[in-house]
Amino acid sequence: MSKTAASVWGNCLSFIQDNISEQAFHTWFEPTKATKLDGNILTVQVPSKFFYEWLEEHYIKLLKASLQKELGKDAKLIYSIVMEKKITNKDPYTVNIPSSNKEKVLKQELDAPLSSNKIKSPFAIPGIQKLKIDSQLNINYSFNSFIEGETNRLARSAGKAIAKRPGGTSFNPLFIYGGVGLGKTHLAHAIGLEVKEKHPEKTVLYVSMEKFSNQYQSATRSNNRNDFVNFYQMIDVLIIDDVQFLSGKKGTQDVFFHIFNDLHQRGNQLVLTSDKAPVDIQDVDQRLISRFKWGLSADLQIPEYELRLEILKSKLEKGGIELDPEVTTYIAKNIKTNIREIEGALNSLVARSVLNRKEITVDLAEKVLSDLIKNQRKEISIDYIQNVVCDYFKIPVEKVQSKTRKRDIVQARQLAMYFSKQYTNASLQSIGTQIGKRDHATVLHACKTVKNLAETDKVFKGYVDDLRRKIGIAE
Ligand code: ADP
Ligand code: MG
Repeated sequence: MSKTAASVWGNCLSFIQDNISEQAFHTWFEPTKATKLDGNILTVQVPSKFFYEWLEEHYIKLLKASLQKELGKDAKLIYSIVMEKKITNKDPYTVNIPSSNKEKVLKQELDAPLSSNKIKSPFAIPGIQKLKIDSQLNINYSFNSFIEGETNRLARSAGKAIAKRPGGTSFNPLFIYGGVGLGKTHLAHAIGLEVKEKHPEKTVLYVSMEKFSNQYQSATRSNNRNDFVNFYQMIDVLIIDDVQFLSGKKGTQDVFFHIFNDLHQRGNQLVLTSDKAPVDIQDVDQRLISRFKWGLSADLQIPEYELRLEILKSKLEKGGIELDPEVTTYIAKNIKTNIREIEGALNSLVARSVLNRKEITVDLAEKVLSDLIKNQRKEISIDYIQNVVCDYFKIPVEKVQSKTRKRDIVQARQLAMYFSKQYTNASLQSIGTQIGKRDHATVLHACKTVKNLAETDKVFKGYVDDLRRKIGIAE
């Protein structure tokens, strides 16, 4: 039986199909077509330059093996690429490129028709591996090193649930939000790592929204928008960090909307992080914001004392550093804004002590950390909270302290009580005493009311979020 281009390529494809995932085959090989067989040289048409680069980058060994099986060890492959022209009023034309010869040929033949001629696959790893893409995960950011506390429990356990059954929970997307240094990126990686551990067959990708957006723009410039979209549609678990970066970027929003819908519809998992809750994200299309809220939004809050202490202890243990427990306590008590600051404090303390060959004492800690501590937000006290709330609503503190039952004052009073309960260790009783001389039942009622209203009333929720930010992240 004589060989034809189609029969040779057909055999190659079935060999390749046995060696890669179904999805990868579908994406990268199904759109190809053999067009010519000339002795031991097979010409295969691919839809775009991006395709050819991707195939060369990821499947060269497999292609070679399959071709040699069919055509002997001198087998050669030539790609025929349907070129898309920037301004096209003519028919597409093709360019032939021999396999493994791309640098040279690209320079010779592509310089003229196309302005940019080198498109890198977004996440290429050399050689052929079972895993088609590099997931871009940092192994140091695992669940093992992510300490659990009151203030991150919901987000952490949602992450755990997802890692167990990606796409199989109602947490899709999982939207993790919170201020800087509170562990969003760490948690995002931890989810990705655990998915890979539990489901090695899944394609996981971590990418920052900034990188996503840059990739998109360069794909658009070089007419590869479809390949960009195809690539992202292959991902089973897509983790995008800092989605607030979408703000004001219309094009990226549109393409992300498209990818989001496709992945979500097919039951693939999305994990998003942001420095703001969905409602607070500015300059992003409402249809995207509403999708962010489809699954579960979980915030990482400012770490409580116990969590700060545990994190410190674990860092010490990992670094093999011995520290006077009194010093550890001192740091945990005084560095409160976020976890990155805690790490920074510990590092500068250790560095200083090594440099000066001094033992780390509470005195030294006080000295070294004094600037850091001074720069932190004020101690959160009930007074401080009352001031922030009154300032926000532009009402005098005396009004909140008075007996008045005017609606806006009552609301401010209740909010001050609610946040005092959240951010101080004061008892209901003492909160009541300090805010308008009320009893503990009034405070309890205030906390419930605020919580209910925040869940049902959008405008009110806006107040709560604004205030939380002002109180929590105030300089
Ligand atoms: P974000 O992305 O919210 O700005 P990161 O994830 O970069 O914050 O976290 C800042 C630092 O704090 C990282 O070094 C991270 O490992 C550490 N960190 C955050 N949360 C925890 C935690 N729960 N346990 C241990 N380390 C944490
Ligand atoms: Mg981050």
